[in-house]
Amino acid sequence: PLVLGIESSCDETGVGIVRGTTLLTNTVSSSMDEHVRFGGVIPEIASRAHLDAFVPTLQESLHEAGVTLDDIDAIAVTSGPGLAGALMVGVCAAKALAVATGKPLYAINHLVAHVGVGLLDSGAASERASDAVAAAGLGAGKLPENLGALLVSGGHTEILRIRSITDDVELLGSTIDDAAGEAYDKVARILGLGYPGGPAIDKLARQGNPKSIRFPRGLTQPKYMGTAEEKGPHRYDWSFSGLKTAVARCVEQFEARGEEVPVADIAAAFQEAVVDVISSKAVLACKEHGITDVLLGGGVAANSRLRELTGQRCTSAGIKLHVPPLDLCTDNGAMVAALGAQLIMAGIAPSGVSFAPDSSMPVTTVSVPA
Ligand code: ATP
Ligand code: MG
Ligand code: FE
Repeated sequence: PLVLGIESSCDETGVGIVRGTTLLTNTVSSSMDEHVRFGGVIPEIASRAHLDAFVPTLQESLHEAGVTLDDIDAIAVTSGPGLAGALMVGVCAAKALAVATGKPLYAINHLVAHVGVGLLDSGAASERASDAVAAAGLGAGKLPENLGALLVSGGHTEILRIRSITDDVELLGSTIDDAAGEAYDKVARILGLGYPGGPAIDKLARQGNPKSIRFPRGLTQPKYMGTAEEKGPHRYDWSFSGLKTAVARCVEQFEARGEEVPVADIAAAFQEAVVDVISSKAVLACKEHGITDVLLGGGVAANSRLRELTGQRCTSAGIKLHVPPLDLCTDNGAMVAALGAQLIMAGIAPSGVSFAPDSSMPVTTVSVPA
């Protein structure tokens, strides 16, 4: 089926088009620049930006794919989780298109859609798609049986188990406070590095010594981890707000002593703490659930140290790490279309047009039932 996917859960307006498992176009407009002076995504601004960007993004995507709305078999839209006002724009647009064209509409889960990119194969029509397969290493439209997904972005830090992408997805662990990307952004602000913080810290950390300071690894004490048999309450969960506070304290101490703040060392030590605990807990969750393949997703997948350490630890544990190209890791419409196509091919009924977006949609809801 030819499926149009719409994404508007955060600061990216995305429209993507797939034919079955073949990627045709992936058009994204981001309002990131408009949030810079606030040091984080401002929901109201993101919503307005979606409204501005939606129609041009849609037109560009259709034009590039060489198809019209008439040719489309179905529409898929991110229905949650995400910012309520931002989701509303994409959902309204999708409903209007569905009603006007009479095409079926699928209201789908953003997190599961991140895993959907792993299903895109290399159609001759798309160079992009062949990159996806080469890098992600997941085969033509079929996901490995024991698949996990590690999603790390500005809004999410989650480890999922996917037994079936259309109807069996389970949350193994998640952050209990800040997302990892959010921690990068907040720490970058403390260090005076600007927004978004991830790329700046990643770069600066290369000049620092990660061992110069030991920052806390959240939720790794025995009372949270338990044992392999009796699992603790947060064995596979993360917490980054204590780490952020520890960085702030550390900076204060240098300042109080009238010493120069070693920004590069702090960046390196902070990054090591984040990446250490993300990769160790993700690999533990995979090992203890018989997961053999892990797909990395979200904007923090760009982080060089996260890729390196997670890759090393996966290799030691006999797990394969799959990293799609970055434009398919960050929020986009193609992933939404890819999951929509899977739902259609699995014979799952569309969602109708009376659903409401759900900012805290659980991963167990892959698509909203009619
Ligand atoms: P969502 O949470 O809905 O998936 P988002 O817009 O919050 O979306 P993304 O756009 O996927 O998240 O990613 C943005 C985040 O990724 C920011 O927090 C940014 O700091 C972080 N990031 C980007 N590049 C890097 C990097 N090299 N290292 C660490 N973090 C990075
Ligand atoms: Mg974003
Ligand atoms: Fe996302």
